[in-house]
Amino acid sequence: MAGNFDIRAWLRKPERLLVVSGPCSVESERQLLETAEGLSKIKNVNVLRGGIWKPRTRPDVFEGVGEVGLEWMREAKERFGFLTMTEVATPEHVELALKHGIDILWVGARTVVNPFSVQELAASLKGNDIPVFVKNPIAPDVRLWLGAIERLESAGLRHLGAIHRGFSSYDETPYRNAPLWEIPIELNRLRPDIPILTDISHICGCRELLHDTAQKALDLATNGFMIESHCNPDAALTDGRQQVTPDDLNALVSQFVVRLKNTDSDEWKLNVFRKEIDRLDDEILNLISKRMEVSEKIGAYKKEHGVTVLQMDRWKQVLDDHINKGVRLGLSAEAVKDIFEAIHKESISRQL
Ligand code: PEP
Ligand code: MN
Repeated sequence: MAGNFDIRAWLRKPERLLVVSGPCSVESERQLLETAEGLSKIKNVNVLRGGIWKPRTRPDVFEGVGEVGLEWMREAKERFGFLTMTEVATPEHVELALKHGIDILWVGARTVVNPFSVQELAASLKGNDIPVFVKNPIAPDVRLWLGAIERLESAGLRHLGAIHRGFSSYDETPYRNAPLWEIPIELNRLRPDIPILTDISHICGCRELLHDTAQKALDLATNGFMIESHCNPDAALTDGRQQVTPDDLNALVSQFVVRLKNTDSDEWKLNVFRKEIDRLDDEILNLISKRMEVSEKIGAYKKEHGVTVLQMDRWKQVLDDHINKGVRLGLSAEAVKDIFEAIHKESISRQL
């Protein structure tokens, strides 16, 4: 339910889950008002988002309705009591958004990668107290994300938040933008005073993944969500596959299991550590699997050249080197020996 929400107080103390929702792009007055009306019935949705200027990958496609949409945002705010939020990428966007009474700004992932653009935005915001959320840059670089936050702070902005929207990746993943949870966790470690919303829409890229991804974010103790919604997602001019109707959003939010209330709790820290362990184990498994692929290639080569599979001298040397290195890294000699004997055993059996 919208109305009387104090975003500045929330940014200082993000005790309850905040949900920002609204269309990827503001397309028409009717589309925005119909979506906003649906959203006004959902508990937790206090902020209406709407893209006015859209950063598109290719030219000659819909790039947002521009300034006129800001007036429709104002209308939605007056009718339903939402705070309104839009993306700004240039000083001109900032000027227009402020002129039309937008309450909260966000800086998009494509802008955050460019320190010159962020610096220009910061300069245009100087002397203003508007809350600004900084999305992660599309590149997985926590320093760049933090740098953008710091540039805004240097311009005197004091009400800042972050939005985790996933990262571009060359590898195949089920996501549109790989979540790489360790990066928002690291931002949280470096700046526990900056609340983080999770933009599950841009992470997932499709409706099917939203539920599980939201729950994962909740288990990692996110401070809230940005979720794109549209009165008729399939007809949306941008990001149709990832937008949900307000009714579907209501169902999604009602399924959230909020396990933890407070980011200082020990349980929260335990979850962070466990996720980190899971991620590292995953990396270990991937590496072992890659190592076995190389073993098979070596096996084939040895067969072709009439060389025996087990080369005892080489194996002894390798094991000694690994044990020495492991001990230097603080591991016990026995543990390193056990691990590499197991790996070697599997490797030999792949070569036979
Ligand atoms: C958006 O929120 O519609 C958007 C363009 O986001 P991002 O900068 O995360 O791609
Ligand atoms: Mn979008």
